[in-house]
Amino acid sequence: MNSERPDGAAATAAAIAATTAPAATIVIIGAGQAGGWAARTLRSEGFTGRLVLIGDETHPPYERPPLSKAVLAGEVAPASTWLLKPEAFEALRPEWWADMRVVRIDRGAKCLEMSNGERLCYDKLILCTGGRARALAVPGAESTPSYTLRTIGDALSLAPELRPGRSIVVIGGGWIGLEVAATARQNGAEVTVVEAQSRLCERTVPPEISEHLLGLHGAHGTRVVLGARITGIAQGADGLSVVALADGSTLTCHAIVAGVGLVPNDELARDAGLECDGGVIVDRSCRTSDPDIFAAGDVAVAPNPWAGRRLRLESWQNAQDQGVAAARAALGLPVDEESLPWFWSDQYGVNLQIYGFPLRSHRVVARGTPCGDSFVLCYLDGDVVRAAVGANAARDLRFARRLIEQRRQVDPDRLADPNVPMAKQ
Ligand SMILES: Cc1cc2nc3c(=O)[nH]c(=O)nc-3n(C[C@H](O)[C@H](O)[C@H](O)COP(=O)(O)OP(=O)(O)OC[C@H]3O[C@@H](n4cnc5c(N)ncnc54)[C@H](O)[C@@H]3O)c2cc1C
Repeated sequence: MNSERPDGAAATAAAIAATTAPAATIVIIGAGQAGGWAARTLRSEGFTGRLVLIGDETHPPYERPPLSKAVLAGEVAPASTWLLKPEAFEALRPEWWADMRVVRIDRGAKCLEMSNGERLCYDKLILCTGGRARALAVPGAESTPSYTLRTIGDALSLAPELRPGRSIVVIGGGWIGLEVAATARQNGAEVTVVEAQSRLCERTVPPEISEHLLGLHGAHGTRVVLGARITGIAQGADGLSVVALADGSTLTCHAIVAGVGLVPNDELARDAGLECDGGVIVDRSCRTSDPDIFAAGDVAVAPNPWAGRRLRLESWQNAQDQGVAAARAALGLPVDEESLPWFWSDQYGVNLQIYGFPLRSHRVVARGTPCGDSFVLCYLDGDVVRAAVGANAARDLRFARRLIEQRRQVDPDRLADPNVPMAKQ
């Protein structure tokens, strides 16, 4: 029997065909890490259609971690951060719209509007717009010069301040603030870190790791002021800046660096009516509430099986994995299982790594002294390792990662015994 309305099976088949048919034009907004990986994956998975990569920076996709480390220290050139060598980037045959800002998504027409008035239509769209450094919100912030660190340009502006004879106040004792502090100190500047919470990196690590970080910075001559409330900042006639604290004290410095978090660039998505909540909400294939639009990286809020909830991660690994996942999903391909979250930070030559989500409710089993040069802390739920944090212990952490991924039961006493290798747990 013929009918205007397809039956259930035919409708399903039509829907599958619609999602798996090769898209003629795939547009990626945001030429950062997630955007770069999405472009790379589209081609490596055989997409031969029109691939447009739009970014409001002038650089090809690049990795941001070195910006607070080797680039800021002046040890490597900014071009060393590029995700792909020029030939490899060319080989992707992207239409690269550099220095171009998308200002509107017209979902009805499936077209984008650029800041220069140009329009571009898409079949599938991948949002990799990342985030921007949160601006300081204290009295005087608008009239007092300060630095933030998100882009190559930011790193190049800040770098000359970090030298002997200069004093820097870093506002914010999170990862970016601490890495800037470490680099500044290593380059010879006097550094004070001002943190509102009672411990460093309070949002992301348990107290014992905050302690480790505090000790590390103290040992390198960085002053850390915890539980500090800033009442205002100002610039004096001498060109020096002053940071005033609620206890009446003041800090005078040559430069203020704000490391007070990231604001996800989700305005385009919100204005287009996509579901957002502190970022663009996606499913595990990075699909937004519009089936033809995907989001990946720092801007995406995704279900995370390792956390057991939906969250937005700001990490190198997440940007890469989600860029790959979004590209695969846009091509109608299956997406890999969510990998165990991993984050690292380098400060004063100490490499700190975090696998999973360490919680205060976990039982901590230490291998090595938490404030020593090298240690691994395992975070157990019952006898199962759920997370691990370590300093200068990359090899042991790789084994810890395996334990977490395999959700294997361990003997906590053996785990704590440094004479029993991690590989034998
Ligand atoms: C200084 C620094 C150090 C870091 N160190 C570490 C580390 O040690 N370990 C770790 O795991 N992670 C680290 N990270 C985090 C990691 O780099 C980020 O999670 C990652 O870069 C996120 O990638 P993304 O592609 O989502 O966003 P981004 O890399 O921010 O890319 C987004 C791009 O989209 C552009 N864009 C936004 N809106 C528009 C628009 N409307 N039109 C056109 N373009 C637009 C932005 O300008 C930007 O270029 C660090 C980040 C920074 C800033």
